[in-house]
Amino acid sequence: MEENNKKIEAENENKEEQQEDTKRERKPSRPTRSFDRNDNRRRFVFKKKVCFFCKNKDAEIDYKNADLMRRYISESGKISPRRFTGTCAKHQRRLTKEIKKARQMALIPYTDKH
Ligand SMILES: [Zn+2]
Repeated sequence: MEENNKKIEAENENKEEQQEDTKRERKPSRPTRSFDRNDNRRRFVFKKKVCFFCKNKDAEIDYKNADLMRRYISESGKISPRRFTGTCAKHQRRLTKEIKKARQMALIPYTDKH
């Protein structure tokens, strides 16, 4: 019985290794750069985040732009930290100010409770 169990375990390990191998093989077969970038983001392997506001110069950080502000608060209404959103320090400071204004104007919530 014990031997059988060991055999099964060994087989399972082999299977897992094979699966990993197929994953590894898939990666380099993707040729375009843009595809690789998407791939990374989906699997949370390595993220190179670029500040949204540095990239899109047109995007104005403004409390009236509630939809944009809403992207930078969590579900519970808290302001998302820079390490999640990738916003640079300069823009995060402005964003924080504007989010607080937007809250005061009741455009976005302070909290999800009550
Ligand atoms: Zn920025």
